[in-house]
Amino acid sequence: MSRTPHADAQPPRHGLAAEAGAPTHEVFNQPEPLTGANLFTGDAGLRDALAFHAPALGADALAGLAALGEEAGSAALQAHARLANEHPPVLHTHDRVGRRVDEVEFHPSYGVLMDRVTAHGLHGTPWADGPGGHLRRAAGFIVFTQLEPSVMCPVSMTYAATPALQANPALHADWAARVAARAYDARPLPVAAKHAVTLGMGMTEKQGGSDVRANTTRAERDGEDAWGERFRLVGHKWFFSAPQSDAHLVLAQAPGGLSCFFVPRWLPDGTRNAVQVQRLKDKLGNHANASSEVEFRGAFGWRVGEEGRGVPQILAMGALTRMDCALGTAGLMRQALCLALHHTAQRQAFGKPVASHPLMRNVLADLALDSEAATALALRVARSVDRTVHGQDPTGHEALMRRLLTPVAKYWVCKRGSHFAQEAMECLGGNGYVEEGGHGVMARIYREMPLNSIWEGAGNIMALDLLRSLQGPQGGPAAEALAAELAPARGAHPAFDRLAAALPARLDGATPECEARMLARDVALAVQAALLHQHAPDFVFTAFCDARLARPESLAAYGSLPAAAPFDALIQRAHPTA
Ligand SMILES: Cc1cc2nc3c(=O)[nH]c(=O)nc-3n(C[C@H](O)[C@H](O)[C@H](O)COP(=O)(O)OP(=O)(O)OC[C@H]3O[C@@H](n4cnc5c(N)ncnc54)[C@H](O)[C@@H]3O)c2cc1C
Repeated sequence: MSRTPHADAQPPRHGLAAEAGAPTHEVFNQPEPLTGANLFTGDAGLRDALAFHAPALGADALAGLAALGEEAGSAALQAHARLANEHPPVLHTHDRVGRRVDEVEFHPSYGVLMDRVTAHGLHGTPWADGPGGHLRRAAGFIVFTQLEPSVMCPVSMTYAATPALQANPALHADWAARVAARAYDARPLPVAAKHAVTLGMGMTEKQGGSDVRANTTRAERDGEDAWGERFRLVGHKWFFSAPQSDAHLVLAQAPGGLSCFFVPRWLPDGTRNAVQVQRLKDKLGNHANASSEVEFRGAFGWRVGEEGRGVPQILAMGALTRMDCALGTAGLMRQALCLALHHTAQRQAFGKPVASHPLMRNVLADLALDSEAATALALRVARSVDRTVHGQDPTGHEALMRRLLTPVAKYWVCKRGSHFAQEAMECLGGNGYVEEGGHGVMARIYREMPLNSIWEGAGNIMALDLLRSLQGPQGGPAAEALAAELAPARGAHPAFDRLAAALPARLDGATPECEARMLARDVALAVQAALLHQHAPDFVFTAFCDARLARPESLAAYGSLPAAAPFDALIQRAHPTA
């Protein structure tokens, strides 16, 4: 711990001349910042979960993740993350002489972050990769989020929107390779002139976001060209993140009903499409990312998928961004935990490190449990995506798990996120609440957490989506699949056995709407426990069941593990420098 003499620059006006300029005190007992940790190799929970779900992942992929972990933990990229947040994007609607430009100007550090995240192939790349690619990407998403979550918005939308392009082969032919390119090309140019592109999604309007059927943006048929049926769009979007993206997938009312349209920023003839950015949102957090309000003034859009089938088309994309919300939150939880562990190990109070006081050990160990459980559940969803995309699902089990666990993971992991961030912040005491240079890292995490819970479908919408997945004939197979999913941990803990015995029967589609959150929570906890049994040490599984399943009151406040919990082992496993 460094001790630094601290001198006041202004000498006193009267007397004490001999002490003018003398040090007033020494700065000590202030922890050093957490930097230089490898965010992949230093995360035992993530590595174990990845090894379980993707045992055949090659040495190259693992080396790539280790390289990403080193970069994401480096002081150099941490400085870029800070700068990108301290200098948020600026909208220029017009140029100097009054022409409409609708350009968003970013600090150069944002470009560096986008360059690195795309170089590691966390956006559209996995769709061009073989089996395991989506799991590699999911692990990388958890890692990079810990450096800077704002850039993960365009990264996630590009990832989610890419498969929709397959519904329009001509668009796919022109765009897919550029979406998969491990590069960032920020130049505002038509697609043909670029070597890499990013995509966004526009659904939410002023009068409704959860209920997209309320969309009023109109699409009128305009003819046909190389990209298929062309429409002109008139209307608006109230939230339209990453407006600098090269194209957005947009919902609009066509003559045949709500449909999905591909709306590029630049038209093939080299002119700007008529998508006008009204203003950027003034957000609680997520400051490095631009989120905007736009108007379509006869913008050109090419139909993607069937006319009138826009909702299922968008929901397919939404399912992927929902998974990313869970992955991102797991990453933020891990980051907040590491900061708390790092700080409390160095900070002394009442004669010893804060981390060695029994009650703080309970808090830290409890946070570590939730962090690992969040990673486990989010990666489980990624496995179901990977297996179904690559046709490695002979029994259909993975497809059922993908449908069931996507809303469950988005709901539960994100719901825990804000609570988690508050507690981790408190571990740092007053320093946790301070925005050093305007954007303290812990404060940044705290502000980001609610966003993952709100966008792409807020908590209620997720819980209701779980109920929807169980309606009619879907309930029976889902119940059987859940029972099979939990089977490997049966007999390992009495509290788990009680939940696992009762839960599948609750997937009968008869749960009233007002109890949907409780069902989502219980499915999440049961699956998390079953996963921890399979890929974490026994003490993690047992501690999780003892606390989350046998003592549900432990969900109310962290630091509620029973006295016999393996505090040291949980903390040691989670420690970033272990
Ligand atoms: C920073 C940011 C960026 C965003 N970027 C984008 C973007 O790029 N593209 C895009 O399309 N959207 C974007 N969104 C919008 C986001 O997806 C929506 O805000 C979200 O889906 C909720 O919609 P809403 O705001 O209209 O809320 P509402 O739909 O009005 O919902 C309000 C509340 O009511 C609840 N609710 C709604 N229906 C029910 C029901 N039947 N039963 C019980 N409760 C219900 C919801 O859970 C929510 O808590 C962004 C949002 C934010 C904050």
